[in-house]
Amino acid sequence: MMRSHYCGQLNERLDGQEITLCGWVHRRRDHGGVIFLDIRDREGLAQVVFDPDREETFAKADRVRSEYVVKVTGKVRLRPAGAVNPNMASGAIEVLGYELEVLNQAETPPFPLDEYSDVGEETRLRYRFIDLRRPEMAAKLKLRSRITSSIRRYLDENGFLDVETPILTRATPEGARDYLVPSRTHPGSFFALPQSPQLFKQLLMVAGFDRYYQIAKCFRDEDLRADRQPEFTQIDIETSFLDEADIMGLTEKMVRQLFKEVLDVEFGDFPHMTFEEAMRRYGSDKPDLRNPLELVDVEDLLKDVDFKVFAGPANDPKCRVTALRVPGAASMPRKQIDDYTKYVGIFGAKGLAYIKVNARAQGVEGLQSPIVKNIAEPNLNAILDRVGAQDGDIVFFGADKAKVVSDALGGLRIKLGHDLNLLTKEWAPLWVVDFPMFEENDDGSLSALHHPFTSPKCSAVELEAGPAGALSRAYDMVLNGTELGGGSIRIHDKGMQQAVFRVLGIGEEEQQEKFGFLLDALKYGAPPHGGLAFGLDRLVMLMTGAASIREVIAFPKTQSAADVMTQAPGVVDAKALRELHIRLREQPKAE
Ligand code: ASP
Repeated sequence: MMRSHYCGQLNERLDGQEITLCGWVHRRRDHGGVIFLDIRDREGLAQVVFDPDREETFAKADRVRSEYVVKVTGKVRLRPAGAVNPNMASGAIEVLGYELEVLNQAETPPFPLDEYSDVGEETRLRYRFIDLRRPEMAAKLKLRSRITSSIRRYLDENGFLDVETPILTRATPEGARDYLVPSRTHPGSFFALPQSPQLFKQLLMVAGFDRYYQIAKCFRDEDLRADRQPEFTQIDIETSFLDEADIMGLTEKMVRQLFKEVLDVEFGDFPHMTFEEAMRRYGSDKPDLRNPLELVDVEDLLKDVDFKVFAGPANDPKCRVTALRVPGAASMPRKQIDDYTKYVGIFGAKGLAYIKVNARAQGVEGLQSPIVKNIAEPNLNAILDRVGAQDGDIVFFGADKAKVVSDALGGLRIKLGHDLNLLTKEWAPLWVVDFPMFEENDDGSLSALHHPFTSPKCSAVELEAGPAGALSRAYDMVLNGTELGGGSIRIHDKGMQQAVFRVLGIGEEEQQEKFGFLLDALKYGAPPHGGLAFGLDRLVMLMTGAASIREVIAFPKTQSAADVMTQAPGVVDAKALRELHIRLREQPKAE
């Protein structure tokens, strides 16, 4: 071993001891005949002082530059009182350098590491191996490793087996596009990369492996949003002979223990909320309960008003009319309201009606709003009473298709919570339960809300008679408005699985072709089973406070699903394509 200690591990207790460090030159300073080198490794920094008395070593220290890789031997000593650096883990000591060996030189890095500099993300990703040297990046990857190790320990102690499942496989539907891999040995056929290990973990249950977990890579070819990556990591879990309460209990305990161990944060028992309540009160199936604002439905009070914008949706069962009261925000300037109107437009809302409540005692006179003249006073009062409006409040309204209103006002609720600093606590975990089995597409067909292997709460006959209203045995764990994980009790009965396929419009032949192996497995003694999967990247993002998911992945893809460092995806040569039985429709332009 070349080093005796990591830089960041040096402290007063080592005073007087001779040590050897290996790392990178973070900063070099020349102070009137004395040279200071800050040496950096993944654990932090240490300051090494070189005196001119050791001539040869001093001359070497004089020649090193930023990011040279060096080995330093020296003696730890306490810093003089005035020179202690409280911002540095090893800030109470320094090392008097005896020997210095340059293990490798470095060109001037494309961006400085010795001070914070705002570098474009493209450059950071192109030189990720340098970017990851930044202490804040190293800290995130280290925390990620502590998180997975805590989770593994918990699952190991609770009798879970870590089993790997294939990457080259068939489609596993989770609602995204597949990444496909052409087969050389089977001309014209393709593997799909797994969107999740879903079907394999169910087959492991059929095989009797009872409690399974895997920290698994999943692949989904989606249009990227800020918190998505084409490949991402799940903590994937499946169990047999446990019901939803058992599974939620077990995994809630895992997350509680994780937060305690890694962040020293204590969560109490997580509240449970139905999907219906979450949508009604928060306009979201992953409500952020740190935010005190709530939606209050008012369609019953607007059915008969002589104002189409409200009366139309109020009388349409597919629509929703809801109010969002923001306490004390009546002084909000017009410009800000305009900005919020634009914001809800992103979700398809055609406008943002509002009432500023200046003085309720003055009746309509005390209300400032473009819409009050359209609504009879008793209705207005009933609405203001229902939302609990007080002088100084502003009340926003949404009236449109239910989804548009929930998305728009739910989104506005979140935005207001942040803009107006309304969050009441740091962490708010909960379970959302009783999801619908299906959601309706624009053409009236149904898609599985979770995935098609989720068990309904009703019988197969009831399901086929009224699929749109059926609830599932699914559950999501939500933290601070982010879905941390989700899962369900699965279907273990072949007849039920086929009923769900029928509802989804998957006929007998397609069932056999795509899911024949699953239907077979369900014939040969499938136990009752269920599980869930956590999104590791999002979990790490929340626990590190990172602004984007790319900050907690060592080598992420860009927003356009490319890797700017390795230049992937890349063009392949004609021979490779021929072997894969592929002819491109257009020749790619020479790069
Ligand atoms: N496979 C599911 C998903 O990827 C999770 C689960 O149901 O366990 O979302």
